[in-house]
Amino acid sequence: PCTDFDKAYFHSYAHVGIHEEMIKDRVRTETYRAAIMQHQSFIEGKVVMDVGCGTGILSIFCAQAGAKRVYAVDASDIAVQANEVVKANNLAERVIVLHGRVEDVEIDEEVDVIISEWMGYMLLYESMLGSVITARDRWLKRGGLILPCNATLYMAPITHPDRYNDSIDFWRNVYGIDMSAMLQLAKQCAFEEPCVETITGENVMTWPHVVKHVDCYTIQLHELESVSTRYKFQSMMRAPLHGFAFWFDVEFSGPANSPTNYHTQSLLIRTSNNPVDGIPRKKRSNPNEALVLSTAPEDPPTHWQQTLIYFYDPIELEQDQIIEGSLTLSQSKENRRFMNILLEYSSGGRSYVKESVMR
Ligand code: SAH
Repeated sequence: PCTDFDKAYFHSYAHVGIHEEMIKDRVRTETYRAAIMQHQSFIEGKVVMDVGCGTGILSIFCAQAGAKRVYAVDASDIAVQANEVVKANNLAERVIVLHGRVEDVEIDEEVDVIISEWMGYMLLYESMLGSVITARDRWLKRGGLILPCNATLYMAPITHPDRYNDSIDFWRNVYGIDMSAMLQLAKQCAFEEPCVETITGENVMTWPHVVKHVDCYTIQLHELESVSTRYKFQSMMRAPLHGFAFWFDVEFSGPANSPTNYHTQSLLIRTSNNPVDGIPRKKRSNPNEALVLSTAPEDPPTHWQQTLIYFYDPIELEQDQIIEGSLTLSQSKENRRFMNILLEYSSGGRSYVKESVMR
């Protein structure tokens, strides 16, 4: 059923700003286009579904790559504009805009390809992946292609003294006045909820831990209700630990169990030689040369940035000190689009718990 929460969610996608932000994110949009072109020989003459088409941009890329028919599905009123965009580009014969939820619309054929840009902050926020799973189980042909094919959520401990000073230590001396009485409130207001902001590789204290790997061909709906992991890090530096950063990447390889032997050689050369920011790169050492859309701190920034969970008080870590614990991400009962985050961490013999909600 379409809840009031879903209505509010789809309404938020009826505004131009959110689409402008996504489309102007060249890392995102160019990687999707490059992936479509990389799989052009699979897409040519085939039937595609774009789950959550927004303005229709990915559907049009697929039509340009030679798709026979593209079902462009969106429950938001942005579908009205998508339909106009399709007509204005003389693609109305091949791109069929369906204004409705992918859970509700009807089409009377199976599809060869499912493409979707479903990733939220911290990968799973928004819970849109479930709609891709629904589309897959309703319509994807055996041997069909899902773009992207997998996704991985990472976490790592971070140090970020500038950020902490700026928001917290600032209150210790304000125009010569001791405003430490503000500290408690400042910590709560700044760090109660997860923060979406950009950090760099220099903030990251050691190698990341994989929180969740999702295979888009096999993942089941119930697996997304709650995701839990245990982690153990060994700090590679002596520095204050301010919290954890989260980021993700997604990969665009060929259909499951089949070699991506339909790559066009020219594209491989072009993308791997182009050093310009915003031009997709290949994951180093990937034998299939799958395109990767990465939101890692060491990679060019995207509109997803990174998601940070800050502690109220930093922990002074020594080089090689262990920090370990567990993390549970679960869909909120009140609104499955919200995410409850339960973080347990311990280091130097002390244990802590931090609960937060991403809404
Ligand atoms: N594909 C576009 C837009 C991506 S944003 C682009 O790449 O620019 C995700 C879109 O998916 C939003 O427009 C949202 O309204 C739509 N969406 C999310 N869940 C959906 C569902 N269950 N059914 C139909 N559309 C959905």
